[in-house]
Amino acid sequence: MNRLADDTKLECRICWYVYDPDIGDEVEQISPGTPFLELPGHWRCPQCDAEPNAFIPVSD
Ligand SMILES: [Zn+2]
Repeated sequence: MNRLADDTKLECRICWYVYDPDIGDEVEQISPGTPFLELPGHWRCPQCDAEPNAFIPVSD
């Protein structure tokens, strides 16, 4: 995977959930402002349980 900026959003290729670092993830109690690359190792897609390598950067 290419290097990611701290504010890059990533999209799950399976269910299209978008991880937004500005929001974090309430399901896994990820604080707002957490870059994707700093998510804990056990983090999975909150909608479909996919591993982080199923996510692709969103260009907006
Ligand atoms: Zn997903």
